[in-house]
Amino acid sequence: MRRRRVPLVALLIAAAVGSTLGAGPAGAARSKLSVAAAFYPVAFAAQRVGGARVDVTNLTPVGAEPHDLELDSDQLDRLLDAKVAFVLGSDFQPAVESAADRRDGPTVELLPELVDARGKKVADEGEGGLDPHVWLDPVLMSQLVGEVERGLAAADPRDSATYEKNAQALQDQLAALDARYRARLTGCARNLLVTSHEAFGYVASRYGLRQEGVAGISPDPEPDPKRLGELAQLARDHGVTTVFTEEAVSPRVAQTLARDAGGLETEVLSPLESLTTKERAAKAGYFTLMNANLDKIANALGCPPRS
Ligand SMILES: [Zn+2]
Repeated sequence: MRRRRVPLVALLIAAAVGSTLGAGPAGAARSKLSVAAAFYPVAFAAQRVGGARVDVTNLTPVGAEPHDLELDSDQLDRLLDAKVAFVLGSDFQPAVESAADRRDGPTVELLPELVDARGKKVADEGEGGLDPHVWLDPVLMSQLVGEVERGLAAADPRDSATYEKNAQALQDQLAALDARYRARLTGCARNLLVTSHEAFGYVASRYGLRQEGVAGISPDPEPDPKRLGELAQLARDHGVTTVFTEEAVSPRVAQTLARDAGGLETEVLSPLESLTTKERAAKAGYFTLMNANLDKIANALGCPPRS
């Protein structure tokens, strides 16, 4: 059941190649392309681009923190058996990435292909380690979607037109999201984002904000008291109103900081690294959470109300 029109000769060649590879007779229902995706935003992109043609496994369970994910044997099997695997690369998830090295099939590393707001390769970033949080920037997410499309098309060239169409639709939505972020984060009273872990660096540089985190680009359960003192001072100096924390991290640190800085509010942003059980139950996904983050950031920075 092909949805694309393909010249007869191409079908005959595909059938010949298919039977050579033992893939069954032409016209038989094809099984879905099995795809392993390292964590939520990558699985989201693979699912949207692959549509009905793919069967996507997200290797990071609901509510888990992907930075230091260890794979159980079932997840490892799925990663090894998938026709194509997508990982962020550059050691964001060392255990997942070294397991992916054992695969026979192709593994696409996404990070090395992306170019940030300053026109530099994201993976060339050196100081303090590489910032993996590209999916929180709609423009970098759009590039990531393009890489996912290329990876799926290479693994399954017969469906490349479908992947291209799906990727374009998703990239159009991401362009609209970028426009919304840009419009909403213009003319704000403040530009300093204080966060529990520095997940919003690409967002900050894309939209002219500045981010200071209690922990660095990896969440850190034991923050440095000196760092907390500096941040409390910085927050007072800049009239910060809100300390951002996140669902998967204990709010204690953000609450301490908010109190030390003179009674600030705390608010939860989603780093979108995995969906929580609550978010899943509420059918939240990439766009709902990105829009919710935008509203919370805009409120905290005193941005003009939405027109
Ligand atoms: Zn993170």
